[in-house]
Amino acid sequence: MPLPIAHGLLGASVAAALRPSSQSPAWKPVLIGALLAISPDADYILNWMRISSGGWHHGFTHSIPFALVIGLSMIVVSRDWRMRSFLLFTAAYVSHTLLDFTFTESRGVALWWPFTNYRYKLRLPNPIDYTWSDASLFEMSVDILKICLAELLIFAPILLIVMYIRRAATKAHKMA
Ligand SMILES: [Zn+2]
Repeated sequence: MPLPIAHGLLGASVAAALRPSSQSPAWKPVLIGALLAISPDADYILNWMRISSGGWHHGFTHSIPFALVIGLSMIVVSRDWRMRSFLLFTAAYVSHTLLDFTFTESRGVALWWPFTNYRYKLRLPNPIDYTWSDASLFEMSVDILKICLAELLIFAPILLIVMYIRRAATKAHKMA
C-alpha cells in the first residue's frame, strides 16, 4: 500500500508530463496533480467514521469512472475547458488507482465501480516492504520513515526525469 509520498510524486509526474507548455506558473498543475493523486485515500476517513459497516478503502474513490467524474468536476471548477486539462486531472487521479491496483496486498481495488463492486488486483512483487514493527512507537516511526525514504528514492527521480524532458522539449520547440 503506497503512502502519500509515492502517490503524490507519481501524480505530479503525470501532471508534469501532460501540462500545456504555455501554462505558467508550471508548478501549479504539478501541485494540483500531486494533490489529486493523494486524494483517493480520503476513503480512509469513511472507515474511521465507521460509516455503514466500513470496508470503504479501495472502494468507489479508487474507480476509473469516478476518476472521470473528478476530471470533469475539476475543469468545471477551474473553468478550464481544454481537453488536455481534463486529461491531466483525470490521469493524475487515476495514477493512484493504477498504483494501488499494481501493488496492493488488500483484496483489491473497485476499478469499475459503480458497474461492478468486484475488487481487482495485479499484485506484482512490491519493491518496497510495507511492513512495520508495532513493538514501540519509536520503532514504528523509524520503520515508517524508512518506507517514506524508499518511496522518495524511487518516485522523486521519475518526477525529475519527466520535468527534465519537458524542459528540454520546450527549449527545442522555442529554438525551432
Ligand atoms: Zn489508495
